[in-house]
Amino acid sequence: MGNAKAGSGVWYGDDDPRNKSIRVPLQKQSNRTAELMAILAAVKDNPPSDNLRIVSDSRYAINGLTKYAAKWEARNWMGNQHGDLFRCITAWIRWRRGVTTLRWTKGHNVTEGNEEADKLAKEGTTKPLTNSPDTLRAPAGNLMTQGASLAKLEQKDFYRIIRDKNRIPARARTERTIGRIQACTENTFGRPPHAEAVWSATRHRDFTKKTRDFLWKSTQHAYEVGEYWTHIDGYEDRGICPLCNDQEDMEHTITKCKSKARSVAWRLANDLWTRTGNTELPTNIGDILGCGLAAFTINDNPNDGKSRLYRIIVSETAYLIWKIRNERRIRDDDGGERSNIEGETTTRWRKALNKRLTNDRFLTDSIRFRKRALKAELVKRTWTGCLENEEALPQEWHKTRGGFSGYVAGGSAR
Ligand SMILES: [Zn+2]
Repeated sequence: MGNAKAGSGVWYGDDDPRNKSIRVPLQKQSNRTAELMAILAAVKDNPPSDNLRIVSDSRYAINGLTKYAAKWEARNWMGNQHGDLFRCITAWIRWRRGVTTLRWTKGHNVTEGNEEADKLAKEGTTKPLTNSPDTLRAPAGNLMTQGASLAKLEQKDFYRIIRDKNRIPARARTERTIGRIQACTENTFGRPPHAEAVWSATRHRDFTKKTRDFLWKSTQHAYEVGEYWTHIDGYEDRGICPLCNDQEDMEHTITKCKSKARSVAWRLANDLWTRTGNTELPTNIGDILGCGLAAFTINDNPNDGKSRLYRIIVSETAYLIWKIRNERRIRDDDGGERSNIEGETTTRWRKALNKRLTNDRFLTDSIRFRKRALKAELVKRTWTGCLENEEALPQEWHKTRGGFSGYVAGGSAR
């Protein structure tokens, strides 16, 4: 296709924010490159702990990543026109802890998804050509192989190796973060967790899908923030926080930035947390990213309600701060904080916490959710002391049909 324009599309569902159209940024603009780029985007964009099912109309891409993967990798993709992409995708699949499956679908037919993805791909061709240094970036721990001999292995062995390799500790920055989470957890709860426990805590059931993604990505340094930009010519200033003129990274954003949104959100979080007699929330990034490991006790027994409230407050607050930061830096083009940011942060923080409370009550429905239902008593232990006019609420406020009409306390806006 020579210099023809190529685009890639990744479609998840109607109005799914993850839907993506990409202008193929590599020199080789071809359909095959575009198809591989779409798969690479899907593999990179989703949390490695989630199972991922990729449907593509490219037999070439799917066979290259399954049937021929071991053979090609043994030769280090030598002589393969798209070897760099195959190598990169393989490394990212390996980096994932969830199961990645690939399935072929007939192209240009009415299969839902295929047409939508095609549309997104066409849109991609109209985007300006950028030469992002990020395109073929290796995942944490650099699992790009250099000609490892896997040729004799069967397919199932290949996947076993993929899974085993995931246990390799990630790159230096991630290790440092894990170390901080371990140290903070030991300091706060008396025992340092194993690195594996740090990872599994980011998937704690008390988090929403979004806060879970946020926590693992932050621990993994998967966000393009701070230091990431410092090494990219022409983009160095993106690594600086324009509000503080300091190096920006996740720690800065969540625990140090002058941003009003940040201070308001943490003030609300602390107001709610200390209402029930708790001491202030910790301010160290290790504690915040490791909030899934919270293990409060009462008379030497686990205080599950308190640990749960803590996880919810800390994860929702940190995630909201990060979201508002992104809006300011990306959507609002670094235009500084919006004039109504304090009120807006209050409203959004309350909304986030009230949503958790409402969901909790909803999930206690044991007829509907059976084994997956939340224990009503746990919901009660979590939120008791946190609600407005709690004494006036009906006895069963913590249950699905408890006649609840209350809100999480704190802030003035609703
Ligand atoms: Zn700042």
